[in-house]
Amino acid sequence: MQAAGNIVAIFAARGGTAYFGEPVSQLEHALQAAYHAEREQAPGWLVVAALLHDIGHLLHGLPEHIADLGVDARHEDLGHAWLAQYFGPEITAPVRLHVDAKRYLCATDPRYLELLSPASLQSLQLQGGPFHADAVRAFEQQPFAREAVRLRRWDDLAKAPGLPVPGLEHYLPMIAASELRA
Ligand code: FE
Repeated sequence: MQAAGNIVAIFAARGGTAYFGEPVSQLEHALQAAYHAEREQAPGWLVVAALLHDIGHLLHGLPEHIADLGVDARHEDLGHAWLAQYFGPEITAPVRLHVDAKRYLCATDPRYLELLSPASLQSLQLQGGPFHADAVRAFEQQPFAREAVRLRRWDDLAKAPGLPVPGLEHYLPMIAASELRA
């Protein structure tokens, strides 16, 4: 039951900060990603992964414009490490892979690049650009790669200013149900 309290505290402290170069806050972005997951009837653990996919951004002290500084903060690895305290690989793996999923989709879906926001295109370069063919195959072999791709598409949709969506409290039972028992 520790995870939910800590997650609420982190979003309360840092969730109001801007989502890099996008017109929504970190909390709005998280809530919209979870909303799209739930709307597609994803299982509860994948809704939780969508909600928490960028928690790594809230855990480090870098300024908002990190992409402008030429720094790739590897927020997916930070998020994965933090979430692994509380959750299993069904949640931590899609979070860790959600940046690779973008590089995968850029390589495999010709329309995907057109969907990316300017900030997301900029960070793509720092993240290594679209995958080459061997990296595409390696990505597909990873557990939860398919879920990471689904999460990625919700992530890309979750940038709509003012979209009315449920609040964080709506997801607390799902978080509690997903938490590993000590
Ligand atoms: Fe995101």
